[in-house]
Amino acid sequence: MVEELVMKLDIDSVNSEANARRIAMVESCFGTSGQPLHEPGRVLVGEGVLTKMCRKKPKPRQFFLFNDILVYGNIVLNKKKYNKQHLIPLEEVSLSSLEDDGQFRNGWLIKTPTKSFAVYAATATEKAEWMAHISKCVSDLLRKSGKKAAENHAAVWVPDKETQVCMHCKKTQFTLINRRHHCRNCGRVVCGPCSSKKIMLQHQSSKPLRVCLSCHDELSSTQSTGPLKTSTYRGVWGGTRVCVSVWPMINVCS
Ligand SMILES: [Zn+2]
Ligand SMILES: [Zn+2]
Repeated sequence: MVEELVMKLDIDSVNSEANARRIAMVESCFGTSGQPLHEPGRVLVGEGVLTKMCRKKPKPRQFFLFNDILVYGNIVLNKKKYNKQHLIPLEEVSLSSLEDDGQFRNGWLIKTPTKSFAVYAATATEKAEWMAHISKCVSDLLRKSGKKAAENHAAVWVPDKETQVCMHCKKTQFTLINRRHHCRNCGRVVCGPCSSKKIMLQHQSSKPLRVCLSCHDELSSTQSTGPLKTSTYRGVWGGTRVCVSVWPMINVCS
């Protein structure tokens, strides 16, 4: 009995040493551009390259799944140097699968209250593994903390190239002068006049945010009468229903 226990302790300490080494390696790859990642109880669950849909185009990003956070960054030198570190608390994350659509295959949405985006794996198996591991980490965390899953998710931004004309007035052609803007509530690409208004999206940001005219109308009527209504946008994401709320942050890839 005692021997078994000692064995187990040994394995745990070996595992935790290996884990600490792996985390230190991730830290060193980000260098001074990242933040310290080692914390008691934190385990590196997996890592890999995923294609992240950014505002302009899809870009490869290195992802690290820990048991409590998801970290990703730009690849400067594969397996050696990363920068532009982003850290997402898993408690706020929910996922939804995307149907394959032409060149965009094996994708899913990573949604949080402040930021939501699509990622794509190289194969269907990788997609299934990533989604299963992330979901398990999230549900383990929520079970431990007793918290509920986040209900409001930021809008997924429609990529710039999806449209040449404003998605609100359907008239304005985008040019170097007529620039694209994103509605922080629905994620659609709209022209300046169709997104000239801002509105408070309270649980998302302390400042008023740019929204399109339809969202402004809808939100100003619901905000005076009651809680924020969650609307849905059927867009480029293969018919997946995207919960619409806010993206108060500057797009990471622009
Ligand atoms: Zn317009
Ligand atoms: Zn909108």
